[in-house]
Amino acid sequence: MGNLIHAGGDDGAGAGAVAPVNMNNGLTSVVIGLMAMALTAEAETDTQRRLAVAVAARDQNLLGLGVVGFDVADLPWDESTFEIDQAFFLRSCDRAILGDDWHRLSYEPRREWVTQAVSGLVDLIESLTPDQLRPQTDWPLMPDVVGEVCDTHQALMHTEGCVLCNDG
Ligand SMILES: [Zn+2]
Repeated sequence: MGNLIHAGGDDGAGAGAVAPVNMNNGLTSVVIGLMAMALTAEAETDTQRRLAVAVAARDQNLLGLGVVGFDVADLPWDESTFEIDQAFFLRSCDRAILGDDWHRLSYEPRREWVTQAVSGLVDLIESLTPDQLRPQTDWPLMPDVVGEVCDTHQALMHTEGCVLCNDG
């Protein structure tokens, strides 16, 4: 069992041009947590904070194991600022790999696994074009107002708290 993150395809089976990121459930939790911290640290606008919360909201402890895969085209993008927000997302991926936030974890992630998975995510985000976007308005666990940050992990919270605390 695992989770698939993909781009621009309806069935998640590699319909897009770029290979999907396929992760087991344990690695999924690690990558979602690292991305939640990195996106939060790099976010400067409400749209970027919403993107950070959307990723944090892929919370296996609430949604269930193996059901948190998603299509990056469905994230709550704003078409009018897409290029800026795409650069923000890619910057955050770099940060997640570099390990700037890893000291807030209670464990040491396997660096080569994280690097491989997040590099795959980079390819997906880079492949996205504005015409592919189909931002979901009913993203699960998305609060009406984003901005609440977990003290422990410095990650933006979804409606049920912090994805990293929930995983603890
Ligand atoms: Zn937390």
